[in-house]
Amino acid sequence: MRICFTSDFHGRRTLYDQLDTLLRREQPNLVILGGDMLPDGREHDPDGTQAAWVHEVLAPWIDTLKQVVPGLAVACCMGNHDWLRSEAAVRAEQDAGRLTLLEMQRVWNYKGVNFLGCPFSPPTPHFVKDYERLDTPEDRLPDFEGPIWATQNGRVRQLSVEEHFRQSPTLDAELAPLATPDDPWILVAHTPPYDTNLDRLPNLDYPIGSKAVRRFIESRRPFCALHGHIHEAPEVTGGYFDEVGGVLCINPGQTHERLQAVLFDTDEPRATLRHTVFA
Ligand SMILES: [Zn+2]
Repeated sequence: MRICFTSDFHGRRTLYDQLDTLLRREQPNLVILGGDMLPDGREHDPDGTQAAWVHEVLAPWIDTLKQVVPGLAVACCMGNHDWLRSEAAVRAEQDAGRLTLLEMQRVWNYKGVNFLGCPFSPPTPHFVKDYERLDTPEDRLPDFEGPIWATQNGRVRQLSVEEHFRQSPTLDAELAPLATPDDPWILVAHTPPYDTNLDRLPNLDYPIGSKAVRRFIESRRPFCALHGHIHEAPEVTGGYFDEVGGVLCINPGQTHERLQAVLFDTDEPRATLRHTVFA
């Protein structure tokens, strides 16, 4: 099976247009969007911005694409810039047969490969916290200023950073109870594993990926792991893939102008792996 994976478009039309061109040319079996695919919603109106965009922009984009790439399946994972409320819009498009939402509680099988999605990331200094968690029980509460908005329980409400992270399980605890899918399986986790080529920023001299995701990969051993979230990592480290416990992990990175995506064949992922920008 030929897979195209990319992430972190943040609703940018130019990136969706470039992906359309790439998919028309390459004709893969499956394209996966690894989270943060929607435009940032206005903080008081997550329903009116992101959800509308899913129905009015993403859905027609998929419909056009499927006409020119016969048999193409589309899958996606949510990310930390996506509102929890937007998940309902994505699920509605899933019910309409347009795409598959990759999630933690349900394994998706496509052409003999199992997929698991994980939307969560450790705390970031942005206002949407729905898909953010403290990474491990040892982590301290983040030192961010100001109120945030969360949409748990189907309501938008203001709460403090401390309240959100204290009331939510850690990412470690979210991952621990999951059953390991049957082989071969692919993990799509928005956040890359800690201390790899995939989790570095230019202005920080320490890794910012997830220790919980790293432990999950090491202990559950997927066939490969696909990530996004840290746009600049390949530029900083010179690598868009790495190994964690022998598992091939990929973060294509992303820019605002030029599409960063990877293509590979599940029969021989290492030998067939290609990036749209990096050699
Ligand atoms: Zn992100």
